Amino acid sequence: MNPTQFAVFGHPIGHSLSPRIHQAFAQQFGLALEYRAIDAPPADFAAAVRAFFAAGGAGANVTLPHKAAAFALADQCSPSASRVGTANVLTALPDGRLAAHNTDGDGMVRDITERHGVDLRGHTALLLGAGGAARGVAWNLLDAGVATLTIVNRSPAAADALADAIGEPARAHTRYWQDLADIGSYDLIVNATSAGVLGVPLPLPFSLVGARALCYDLSYGVAASSFLAWAKAADARYAFDGLGMLLETAADAFALWHGQRPETEPVYQLLRQASA
Ligand code: NDP
Repeated sequence: MNPTQFAVFGHPIGHSLSPRIHQAFAQQFGLALEYRAIDAPPADFAAAVRAFFAAGGAGANVTLPHKAAAFALADQCSPSASRVGTANVLTALPDGRLAAHNTDGDGMVRDITERHGVDLRGHTALLLGAGGAARGVAWNLLDAGVATLTIVNRSPAAADALADAIGEPARAHTRYWQDLADIGSYDLIVNATSAGVLGVPLPLPFSLVGARALCYDLSYGVAASSFLAWAKAADARYAFDGLGMLLETAADAFALWHGQRPETEPVYQLLRQASA
């Protein structure tokens, strides 16, 4: 019998750690599966997904730049995907329809609270960016108990749209990027911009970093190095990249597909050593 088919769709996708992560998870349960990385330009994404599932695919992860398109083509959406409006997991339902989930926010909060042991309740939070990933984590930060969420995006309209969608003006509001030097300090600073991935410097004032601050970059590897160096130079108490988030979101997808949740820590340590 052929192994069950899974895939990650993105563009580009060569850098993806997902095939390695899912094979490592599968080994924990003695499962045989095929997990491919499929490079699909935006114009081909919907057709490529439909072809994959028509050929027996059971589940797919979706990454840049397809998360909004994945949400749009699904027949059914989980509450987490519906409120964000994007999806990073697609699952074939028994009747052939596609279900969409968004596990990004849960993954980041679990990485911070469980792996790193930091309780977010009462934190003042600054969210840099208002793209797909920022939307994916914003509600979960509020669910995790941050006191306030200040959203700052280079293009203010996207930050305003996110704050409006959240609809809790007493807790979630926006400020302008050009005012970053004047808006005080925060307990939690989340970099959800793609500046690191694009290799573009992100000049940020040290004054943002509060006395007990946790600085978290959603990207990882070289893409996170500049933000983490800034956080350390500003004396942040903690500075973490998004590798743990990637593992946690992958584990959520694995649990949806296989009904069993893998241990993330051994795979996290493996990837950390490999990147060192
Ligand atoms: P999007 O393209 O949807 O959004 C990009 C965001 O970055 C926008 O808010 C954009 O602002 C901002 N931005 C880009 N360049 C700059 C710059 N030079 N200065 C300031 N802001 C900038 O990307 P995503 O939201 O999907 O992804 C963002 C990051 O999160 C990526 O690095 C991605 O790898 C990472 N990620 C990590 C995950 C994990 O599991 N660890 C999961 C998901 C994402 P503007 O609106 O003005 O263009």
